[in-house]
Amino acid sequence: MNSIPGTSGSNQTVDSLIVKQKGISRHVLNKLAKDFKKEQKFTDLSLVSLYSAFGDVFDRALSLYESSKISKIIAVDPNAQGVWKEINSSRWLLEVQGLSGEAYIIFPNVNYCPCAAFKYQVLRDQSDQTCKHVLAAWLASLDPSKVTEKHITREQFKNLLLYQVSEK
Ligand SMILES: [Zn+2]
Repeated sequence: MNSIPGTSGSNQTVDSLIVKQKGISRHVLNKLAKDFKKEQKFTDLSLVSLYSAFGDVFDRALSLYESSKISKIIAVDPNAQGVWKEINSSRWLLEVQGLSGEAYIIFPNVNYCPCAAFKYQVLRDQSDQTCKHVLAAWLASLDPSKVTEKHITREQFKNLLLYQVSEK
């Protein structure tokens, strides 16, 4: 079963890309996510950790998330049935719209974004751990109430993935 793309088995391979830099670890993020699910909101303590780890980036991610700029892009095959329908719906990406209208594709659980802030502040200067788009996508994974779903065909989904890879 682990060979099905997009299901839990294959997520292990992206673990090395997940937030591991200074300040906040994946473990802490998971704990914050658990607290959020229990309380249905961030506790004061969680907010303090998030602000101290991400600073202004968290603030901007929060307003991005609250303005409903995040879509879940799902590959849908109208002819698929049974297990194939499920396999298709497990293939998804997040699209986060920036303030000036540009859209960035975020892979679930991967700390990478093609935006300029990620390139300069995260990769080059290492002054930030991530960008507001990745953090907004993380917020959306905790509370999907403000996330809209976009359905595209498997072919379009494949092209979207190829485009992401060829851009780098
Ligand atoms: Zn970004």
